Amino acid sequence: LVPFTAVGRDPLIVGVDVGASKVSAATVDARGVVENETVRRRQSGDGPEEVLATIVEAVRSTLTSQEAAGIGAIGLGIAGQVEAETGVIRYSPNLRWENIPLGDRIRTAFRAPVVVANDVHAAAVGEWRYGAGMGERDLFVLIVGTGVGGAAVVDGHLLTGATNTFGEVGHVTLVAGGRPCHCPNRGCLEAYVGGWALAERARELVARELEAAEPLVRRAGSIDQITGQTVTQAYREGDPLARRLVHETIDYLEAGVVGIVNTFNPHRLLIGGGMLQGLPDVIPGIQEAIRRRCQPAAANVEVRRGRLGDQAAIVGAARLARERLSSGDTRGAGSP
Ligand SMILES: [Zn+2]
Repeated sequence: LVPFTAVGRDPLIVGVDVGASKVSAATVDARGVVENETVRRRQSGDGPEEVLATIVEAVRSTLTSQEAAGIGAIGLGIAGQVEAETGVIRYSPNLRWENIPLGDRIRTAFRAPVVVANDVHAAAVGEWRYGAGMGERDLFVLIVGTGVGGAAVVDGHLLTGATNTFGEVGHVTLVAGGRPCHCPNRGCLEAYVGGWALAERARELVARELEAAEPLVRRAGSIDQITGQTVTQAYREGDPLARRLVHETIDYLEAGVVGIVNTFNPHRLLIGGGMLQGLPDVIPGIQEAIRRRCQPAAANVEVRRGRLGDQAAIVGAARLARERLSSGDTRGAGSP
């Protein structure tokens, strides 16, 4: 395979986002423009082989057969811990994967170089190179969805950490001995503001205040069916209990962001993820919390929403694949 610098035309780069509930694949050009996106829902009971087959099928559906024979490189972002050298998924709680050789399997299926990255790292690269973080040398990207994750660009470099799991700010302790988390710790930021945690807190509050909670329970169908989305929808319609839950969530989120800004000293902070779509506009409040509560020298941060939305991880994974290809290093299956 010839590095594209020697070919002189744009190589075909495919970006893939492997998430908890769906797989998305698309071609991404050198300007970060996404084309022919294919989205496949996955079933929650799918094992690794079914998910791998879904990924291969989604990539094939995105390409013509002629294109499939000439892929320049494939970049995958996945919700899990990725071994940098090999592209093995060490652990993914969302997919219930352990030690799955994703990079090798996709490379074998398409006979093309493959880069695998954590999905939050990939999303951060997407926003940094093509989105709301373009041109920044010191950027923090915070994703608030079902879980909470982060990624940092410091002095113009994406940080990866000793074992490629840099940025798990969702698991910084906010309340010592606090709510149990999905990780081994208690009191994590995610255990208060993640989508799953909002749902859990809502069910507990409802059980304590059955009368006030009646509209919320009616909306969900039963206490067990209350989700983060039920709460944020009820919030928008003025439900008092939902208001309490959402305001508490924003308080915890602001407390978490103050710690992140003090620790990483970014010039710009981007916030994205599915939870934000349900919450009121949190950006001005977060900007104000930073101004009032951060170390003064660190407090001059621009807070913005991510610009690429759902496509950030696809765009970023494709960018990492493109960089790998242009470096001439086409052997590896791992992360950047
Ligand atoms: Zn945790």
